[in-house]
Amino acid sequence: MLRQAFLYLSQQSWLRHWMENSPLSQRFTARFVAGQRLEEGIRVLQNLQREKIDATLDFLGENVSTLDEAARSRDNYLKAQAAIRESGLPATVSIKLTQFGLDFSEEACLNNVTQLVEFAKGMNSLVEIDMESSDYTDRTLRIVTSLHKRFGGHVRAVIQAYLFRSEDDIRSLSALGIPVRLCKGAYREPPSVAYPLKSDVDTNYVKLMKLLLDEGSDPAIASHDETILKQARLYARERKISPARFEFQMLYGIRRDLQNQLTGDGYRLRLYVPYGDAWYPYFMRRLAERPANVVFIAKNLLRN
Ligand SMILES: Cc1cc2nc3c(=O)[nH]c(=O)nc-3n(C[C@H](O)[C@H](O)[C@H](O)COP(=O)(O)OP(=O)(O)OC[C@H]3O[C@@H](n4cnc5c(N)ncnc54)[C@H](O)[C@@H]3O)c2cc1C
Repeated sequence: MLRQAFLYLSQQSWLRHWMENSPLSQRFTARFVAGQRLEEGIRVLQNLQREKIDATLDFLGENVSTLDEAARSRDNYLKAQAAIRESGLPATVSIKLTQFGLDFSEEACLNNVTQLVEFAKGMNSLVEIDMESSDYTDRTLRIVTSLHKRFGGHVRAVIQAYLFRSEDDIRSLSALGIPVRLCKGAYREPPSVAYPLKSDVDTNYVKLMKLLLDEGSDPAIASHDETILKQARLYARERKISPARFEFQMLYGIRRDLQNQLTGDGYRLRLYVPYGDAWYPYFMRRLAERPANVVFIAKNLLRN
């Protein structure tokens, strides 16, 4: 119920405008967002690297409505990639295709993202293409596949365990050698396409995770679910899958205890680090996942 309410609010532009322009925004968001500027994002990446944690950098934003805005997103990401290269960090970037024009032109979107993948190839890195709501799944996978074929890799797809279609998608992507990040899924979806019950999503996640560990190429297990992490480690051990063959991924600011446990035990971990001023939808999805975060944030506001 609360999850649905936060997801509904995440789509309300009046509230977004008000919150993003609030002088208190930094205090709301500090736990989940590295900062508003690229330099702040890079500083977080450097700090993480000192703890042997890799990162994927996300310039916040989604659903642009003009070609100019899409080109600005592309240029901001090219700057971010250049800064990553300059700092010598083994970081990737994560993007949302609606930030690059997918809502109005698949072709323009592909052209924009092509430049990023070309850049990533030049620095032997990856562009990780986030998955948005199910309206975009087919188009997103089409673009990922075409870029993978053109550049011989350098892209990673994201698959959401809550969608009924995901097993087929994983099989097709794995057959082509396309790396996959597996997550549960963060959007409001109808019961015609996605499991409405969390317990079913969790069960499907474990099934897909095993499939990916067996057949995927450089898979990323993206979750903070302690039971799932334990099952992933156990399954990999049973099947003699070396920790070098997969990585765990988590969101910046969430479950640092589990992050330390994984790196302490010698597993590869990558954190998803967002920065930028368009933080509202990302932030609201984090509240939807754990409404208790509201209490944490309220305490933070009072403390300051
Ligand atoms: C690296 C990464 C990339 C992602 N990319 C995408 C994407 O491209 N598309 C997409 O739809 N979704 C994406 N997600 C979000 C994902 O779909 C889930 O919504 C989110 O990860 C919560 O699911 P969970 O696996 O942690 O399990 P849950 O069952 O939701 O949570 C398990 C436990 O994790 C902790 N936890 C989870 N979320 C929070 C939170 N917000 N605040 C505090 N504690 C929390 C709690 O202790 C909770 O009990 C991504 C997640 C990660 C980690």
